[in-house]
Amino acid sequence: MVADNLGVVLHEKNDVRMEALPMPQAGAGEVVVAMDTVGICGSDVSYVTKGRIGDFVLRKPMVLGHEASGVVHALGEGVTSLEVGDRVAIEPGVPCRRCDHCKRGTYNLCADVFFCATPPDDGNLCRFYKHAADFCHRLPASVSLEEGALMEPLSVGVHACRRAGITAGQRVLVCGAGPIGLVNLLVARAMGATEVVVTDISAGRLELAARLGAQHTLLVDSKDAEALAGRVAELLGGRQPDVTIECSGAEASIRLGIFATRSGGMMVLVGLGPAEVTVPIVNAAVREVDIRGIFRYANCYPAAIQLVEAGLVDVKPLITHRFQLEQSVQAFETARTGAGGAVKVLIKCGEQ
Ligand code: NAD
Ligand code: ZN
Repeated sequence: MVADNLGVVLHEKNDVRMEALPMPQAGAGEVVVAMDTVGICGSDVSYVTKGRIGDFVLRKPMVLGHEASGVVHALGEGVTSLEVGDRVAIEPGVPCRRCDHCKRGTYNLCADVFFCATPPDDGNLCRFYKHAADFCHRLPASVSLEEGALMEPLSVGVHACRRAGITAGQRVLVCGAGPIGLVNLLVARAMGATEVVVTDISAGRLELAARLGAQHTLLVDSKDAEALAGRVAELLGGRQPDVTIECSGAEASIRLGIFATRSGGMMVLVGLGPAEVTVPIVNAAVREVDIRGIFRYANCYPAAIQLVEAGLVDVKPLITHRFQLEQSVQAFETARTGAGGAVKVLIKCGEQ
């Protein structure tokens, strides 16, 4: 039987087509993966609706999808770390391996990275896809392929919490309760944060944050960042958070994060909103609130998988919708509109 390779291709903004793609062949060091599950991320939706994110502009048709898992289907020359039939989570960014960043291990900063579904690189929302074998992480028997697809956003949480230096007994503020804020909540708890406050402008998202283990939630219903920071401290019994993890990108939220964080504390910027924002930087400076950025992740997939295997993190409650590959246009529409309380929308890539 000749397998078909149906894929989901973005031609230009708002033009998503189902197409037959060539069957990939594994080169040296690569594997072909029979795709199982691909999650939709906010960045996929931005490419679909705007055709760009910042300087990354869609200039030619691109296969969508980068939060993915599947089953190894074929091995390229020299691959010894995997076997046909292995279930894997696919880490979507394969760096050059030669530059200074790669050699230091901060390979997320490599300028010459292949990254699924970031123009011009094709993603893996299709039936068969080839990838570097060492960026395919074998899943333990107790971790499902759906959980495997969620190792991508979970790795963002692992990297952010590592950069934040979260340790046992800390109080943490997570701003924004989208998928990224929620995975940061989960990882912060797993790393020993004892009290977490989560903010959002949507009450529905805060309900999910509470179900996932946030002790406190704060509906952001005012523009007065200093007053809101006072309410965060009130929720924590009069103490300010040691760490703030900003996951909305909204200027108002970054402002709140700075005012809310305790003197000598840390704020990590995960959310990517407007390129330039006005924030109370002098307040941060004179209180020694450190501000750090994060970009994707490096060396985080193994930890993400182990957190799930050990039962320290449960990502399943994030999943709100499932669609078949053939229904991808509908899946993107659901992710875009947030219809039905959509948080994480998954696409199942196998043939039915
Ligand atoms: P999302 O849009 O689903 O979630 C953002 C949440 O923030 C929403 O629930 C929204 O209601 C909330 N929000 C908006 N304004 C707010 C405010 N003023 N205060 C509090 N909450 C507010 O997006 P997501 O997929 O969860 O991603 C979150 C952010 O993280 C995005 O900006 C995304 O670009 C960024 N991101 C960054 C990296 C990185 O490597 N730095 C990786 C992945 C995602
Ligand atoms: Zn490099």
